[in-house]
Formats: sequence, C-alpha cells, structure tokens
Amino acid sequence: MLIGYNQGTSLKNSNVETDLKYAEKYGFDFIEFQMSQLYKYLKTHSLKELKDFFGTSWIKPYSLNALEFFNLKTPEEFKEVKKKFIHMCEIAKGLDCGVIIIVPSKKMEGMSGEEVKKDSIDSINKLAHIGERYNIKLAYEYLGFPDISVNSFVQCYDIVQAVNRANVGIVLDCFHFYASGSKIEDLKNVDAKKIFVFHINDSRDLPLNTLQDSDRLWPGDGVIPLDKIFKVLKYIGFDGVATVELFNPDYWKLDPEKTIRVAMEKTKSVIWRYFQ
Ligand code: ZN
Repeated sequence: MLIGYNQGTSLKNSNVETDLKYAEKYGFDFIEFQMSQLYKYLKTHSLKELKDFFGTSWIKPYSLNALEFFNLKTPEEFKEVKKKFIHMCEIAKGLDCGVIIIVPSKKMEGMSGEEVKKDSIDSINKLAHIGERYNIKLAYEYLGFPDISVNSFVQCYDIVQAVNRANVGIVLDCFHFYASGSKIEDLKNVDAKKIFVFHINDSRDLPLNTLQDSDRLWPGDGVIPLDKIFKVLKYIGFDGVATVELFNPDYWKLDPEKTIRVAMEKTKSVIWRYFQ
C-alpha cells in the first residue's frame, strides 16, 4: 500500500516547499495539497515550478483539499462554487493531479435527508461534468459532525452510488468514519474502486458528538478500531493510497520535519500489519 501525506498534518507549522522536502525525505509516495497552502505558494511561485519539482521527484501530487461546502446553494451561490471548482481543476491539471475532494455544507433547518440527497446529486452531476473535461475525479468527503448535511458513510456512499459516474467516488476518512458512528459492516459491501481517497488518522476517546478535527491523533495512538478497518479494506480488495491527515494543533507546535517524520513512522506501523 502506498502512503500519502496530507498537508493538514503540518498546516500551521509548514508550507508547500517544506512539506515536499520532508515528505520526500521520509519516503512518502504522494502529497495531498491543502488549498490554503497551495494558494500561498502560488503567490510567489509558478505552477510550472511545482510541476517541474514533481518531474524530478518520486513523490507525486494526489489530491487537492478541498472544494468546501459545495451543496445546498442558491443558483447564484452555486455559480461561485463552479467558478472555484474550475479554478481548482485548472491547477490540478497543471500539476497532473487527478483528484479534487469535495466537502458538504452544514445542515439547513427543516430540510429532509431526501432533499439533501437530491440537492447533492444535482450539484455533483454539474461539477462532475466539468471534471470530465479536465480528466479530474471528484472524491466526496462527508464530515462526521452532527451539524453537517452529509455526515455518515452510508449517506455519502448512497449519494455516490446514485450519481453513478465513473469520476465520482468517496473519501473514507477514519476519523469521520468513527466520529459519525459508522459501522465496520457498512464497509463490507462497498466497491473498493469507489474509495478514491483513504485518510488515515486516529481519535481521542471522547463522546462521538463532541469530537472536533483537533481531536485527531497519530494513527495507532487513539481509539479508532483501525485494525478492523484495515481488515475489511483488505477483504473488499482495496488497493489504493493511505494518506495520513490530521489537524491537531499540538502537532503543529512541532518542528515540521518532526511532524512529517513521525507521521510516516506512525502510519507505517499501522499499515504494515495488513499491507506491505
Ligand atoms: Zn479527510
């Protein structure tokens, strides 16, 4: 199994150049960009410079994180979403980066699950159509928090299946999977090819409905049943990339080299029990 590094892990103590330098040094195969870091980088560098880096390194770009809060928009608001998405597609294409992660909006009062589903399907279809022109895949990442419109694995996978397009899949993020109270059985009948992105992390032992992104821990240091998740991933034949993605302010206090080195050590130690 190949291993990716998501810039969220060192979001506040690093930048694109530093992340790439150490992600390469510690043997990561892929990098997932956080848009805030990438936009900062592009203020003083060209896209070509970044592409040239990848031309001489084994580390490759995997995804852009993320088109946030794309659903439940008015037609006017959705025009802005589309504009942002097209810009991200252009960046992704310029880097030979094949995946853009899309993230749902907060719930709207009085809106039923069926209405959220219908809205998601319509919005994703419009974006996926644009993505096809750029040869970009869309990976739908639900957030496992109570106030988010799409907040469980089953709900998100149901939408992805209903959309039924080759370039639309799901993000399996262990933290969101756990925080949403999703069950291991929910993964057993999943088409492994539809898991476009796999985020590995762990969680503090707190009541599920109180968990925040800042409660993410190094893989193996928390209470998420990662062994069970890996077993079922192996069972369904998942053969994608595992990307370590945390947003823990304690890890942002470390030297970025240490953050990235530890991220690799911890991730490897969990993955290698099940995958080479
Ligand atoms: Zn994630």
